[in-house]
Amino acid sequence: MLEIKNLHCKLEEEDKAILKGVDLTIEAGKVHAIMGPNGSGKSTLSYVLSGRDGYVVTDGSATLEGENILDMDPEERAAAGVFLAFQYPVEIPGVGNMTFMRTAVNAQRKARGQEEMSSAEFLKVIRAKAKEMQIDADMLKRPVNVGFSGGEKKRNEILQMAMLEPRLCIMDETDSGLDVDAMKLVADGVNALRAPDRAFLVITHYQRLLDHIAPDFVHIMADGRIVKTGGPELALEVEKNGYADILAETA
Ligand code: ADP
Ligand code: MG
Ligand code: MG
Repeated sequence: MLEIKNLHCKLEEEDKAILKGVDLTIEAGKVHAIMGPNGSGKSTLSYVLSGRDGYVVTDGSATLEGENILDMDPEERAAAGVFLAFQYPVEIPGVGNMTFMRTAVNAQRKARGQEEMSSAEFLKVIRAKAKEMQIDADMLKRPVNVGFSGGEKKRNEILQMAMLEPRLCIMDETDSGLDVDAMKLVADGVNALRAPDRAFLVITHYQRLLDHIAPDFVHIMADGRIVKTGGPELALEVEKNGYADILAETA
């Protein structure tokens, strides 16, 4: 599904390389986790994949279902099925959550050449999904993320993901200071949305999150590259011994 080869990037305003040759293949239906020391480039990888401004790809490729996503603008990537969960969800006073999601869903449908959903149809779908994910329907009427608790923001993010039905979900939980309950919400959301035609890239500091998610693969990123790949046992090794041994062994 996703194939990243020798990906290099730098900041627009600086010549220092941040990603220095990332190789990663993700098959449909799989959950991949990326761990790694602070500053190793994990968030940058998610930004480059989702098309955030300010990052320049200097070498390598990233294809989704064979299509080069690096040439697409962020909206095109979203239409192609790339979803990046926001680490710090934005609050949008005055815009109802329901309206916001309907706009996002319809923009995506338009970009995919599909017809817009009528408000009746949209209401039906979002209510069903909210119920499925045990989200209080009341949250749909409130302004986007305004006054939401950390847990509510996480639920909302999962609901957005459920509504947009992405092919590739990228979740960066690195610096968000998830408490145990929020971690459980994220994990439950990922597990509920796992599907044979959907893949996940979960970036995290927390081995505990991976306890609940049970990823198929765990990668360790260091200094702009993936330096080691294994199964869930690799996350346990990191929890126990930190990164020093892995870094020494792969240096
Ligand atoms: P991680 O998510 O693994 O902690 P990041 O991707 O956030 O790592 O950062 C990788 C490196 O790139 C760090 O040295 C960081 O300081 C630098 N970096 C990333 N984005 C920016 C930015 N917008 N401005 C300045 N430095 C950046
Ligand atoms: Mg960091
Ligand atoms: Mg980060």
